[in-house]
Amino acid sequence: MARFSAPFADVCRLTVAATFAAASLALSTSPVLAQTPAASTAPIPVPTEHAAVKRATDLVRTDNAWTLQQQTQICEIPAPPFGEEVRAADYKRRLEAEGLTNVRIDSVGNVIAERVGTGGGPVVVLSAHLDTVFPEGTDVTVKQDGDMYAGPGIGDDCRGLAVVLAVARAYRQADIKTAGTILFVGTVGEEGAGNLRGVRHLFEGPLKGTIDYFISVDGTGLNITHAAVGSNRYRVRFIGPGGHSYGAFGMPNPMHAMGRAIAKLADVQVPASPRTTFSVGVVEGGTSVNSIPFEATMDVDLRSESAQSLATLDSAFQRAVQEGLAEERARWPQSQRPVDVKIDTIGIRPAGSQPETAPIVVAAIEAGKALGFEPFTGASSTDSNVPIGLGIPAITIDGGGQARGAHSLDEVYRDGPDGWKGPQWAILIVAALAGAQ
Ligand SMILES: [Zn+2]
Repeated sequence: MARFSAPFADVCRLTVAATFAAASLALSTSPVLAQTPAASTAPIPVPTEHAAVKRATDLVRTDNAWTLQQQTQICEIPAPPFGEEVRAADYKRRLEAEGLTNVRIDSVGNVIAERVGTGGGPVVVLSAHLDTVFPEGTDVTVKQDGDMYAGPGIGDDCRGLAVVLAVARAYRQADIKTAGTILFVGTVGEEGAGNLRGVRHLFEGPLKGTIDYFISVDGTGLNITHAAVGSNRYRVRFIGPGGHSYGAFGMPNPMHAMGRAIAKLADVQVPASPRTTFSVGVVEGGTSVNSIPFEATMDVDLRSESAQSLATLDSAFQRAVQEGLAEERARWPQSQRPVDVKIDTIGIRPAGSQPETAPIVVAAIEAGKALGFEPFTGASSTDSNVPIGLGIPAITIDGGGQARGAHSLDEVYRDGPDGWKGPQWAILIVAALAGAQ
């Protein structure tokens, strides 16, 4: 189909490398954060021959239409940034319908449901994010054409939310018993300005210290994010009195100060591995061509796979801003008119990596192989940033199918011949981590 002549790609997450394979290679040399004592290095067996688990994986294949129906229905409930309540209330009802217990909405808006284990096993979270990037009022109607579903958020992350539900349902129907308790979760605030506030609360709020494994289902395809790309984002405002471009000439110009700072930032040298990047993404300011502006602002995005490299880059950025300001002041030594700068934080996401040999990563790869595919591993920015930053074993997995145009109004999800492999994979990984009995 012409519309889909470009290759489908998993673009919904903020994947750092062109391909997962490339990211994986680059990561093999990146520093590894110390694991908490809880993060055991013992391999986790994947119960590929377990009768009830097999039943569950058969069920999600048979019930594929149900999963797609959930995905569509959830997608048609708006969930703008900081406005996830309606979708959260609906998601709570869907989790309750799967017989889960203690289904609740926590103080920041996350939906949490429990499937209590028989005892003595780890606590495993399977989650997806409720929020979208689309503002209130966006038309979120889903249009279906065969196995193609078009609608804002249909892949990112309605796919993940549907997969989490499909797993809960299959566990109930197949009556899988696990030693550990499974928490099925819908998080708020994964995207942009949400700054991971939902998952942060999950690990810092009442459940602090109780979660042993974390899996986020985010995006489409069949790959694994095992390393967290950290980011520091800032809004920088250069301010001065402003004035007439001709009549008031001779005073520092906030826009010129910002230009100097941008030029300095643009020249900062960063390592290719661990991958470290910077960008001035938005510049604003000024009122007319014949005015010295009283304000100029820029939004800056700094990222790295390594916390240390991110800190180094952050210092270079701060220096660039201060030097830009100082040079603009020095350019007009006679001027009594002040120019100043104010830096506001837009978002901070922790960086961190865990080795590709970490038991949770190996278990996910083995589970994929058992289902007939070989997942790539890579670095990205997802809900898993928070647990990975804390040294808690965590991965973000794709939910199967394929999508294109994430974060755009033209987002499209295609289930393809084997979209059900996404929920099958999640079933198997959860069974391994929670200890199917
Ligand atoms: Zn997402």
